[in-house]
Amino acid sequence: MTEVIKGVYHIPGQDEMIPDSHVYIIGDPSSQDLSLVDVGLTGKGRYKISSINDFGVKLEDIKRVIMTHTHFDHIGCFAEIKEQIPWAELWVHTAEAEELEQGDERTVYGMDMFQSMCQTQYDIEPGAFKFKVDRRLQDRETLQIGGMTWDVLSIPGHSRGSIALYHASNKILIPGDVVYADYAIGRFDLHGADATALKDSLMRLAELEVDILLPGHNRIVKDLPAGYILKTAQQWAPYLT
Ligand SMILES: [Zn+2]
Ligand SMILES: [Zn+2]
Repeated sequence: MTEVIKGVYHIPGQDEMIPDSHVYIIGDPSSQDLSLVDVGLTGKGRYKISSINDFGVKLEDIKRVIMTHTHFDHIGCFAEIKEQIPWAELWVHTAEAEELEQGDERTVYGMDMFQSMCQTQYDIEPGAFKFKVDRRLQDRETLQIGGMTWDVLSIPGHSRGSIALYHASNKILIPGDVVYADYAIGRFDLHGADATALKDSLMRLAELEVDILLPGHNRIVKDLPAGYILKTAQQWAPYLT
């Protein structure tokens, strides 16, 4: 775990055959009101918790888990994490909250083939991803958490309930799997994905001033060139129809 800037910390994903999402911790340490953004792949809960402990963050200061979206590689170890911090709330965009509460796992696994593969590989029972959602996030909400201000942007396309968290004053964007470093974007072939919506979401993100890009996978970028997201959106536009 490393500090990106004060109030934003990064635990890199530990990819296996299936990727493990990065985890970000947001919140001023002195606020004792920290949030995990995503948790990662099934089996990675212990690694994430020990990274937090090793860094000296107190588990009791973690008040919630905010999901950028509910794919398996982001929410897979939620039950493991919840065992360690049972008081933590789960905040999910409203478009994926209903499915999660009903135990409808289509978004979690994305496709049937992947569902059977993961259930076999990790010995997961059907219905394992049924969770109470404590707060349903909406587009354009402003979260005052951990002594910081984060805007919630609904950016569907990779999944229906994908969100970005944006810290305007430090120009930090946490876009989940919608846009990555190196002009890459998230896949748009899974359950709930929508290529046209993804194009619109990228164009929306392109309007933000972003210096620090903290995606769900791969490298993080601390000095993002101006116009980076617009250029990425334009490169991909012909494929997003
Ligand atoms: Zn995803
Ligand atoms: Zn992912």
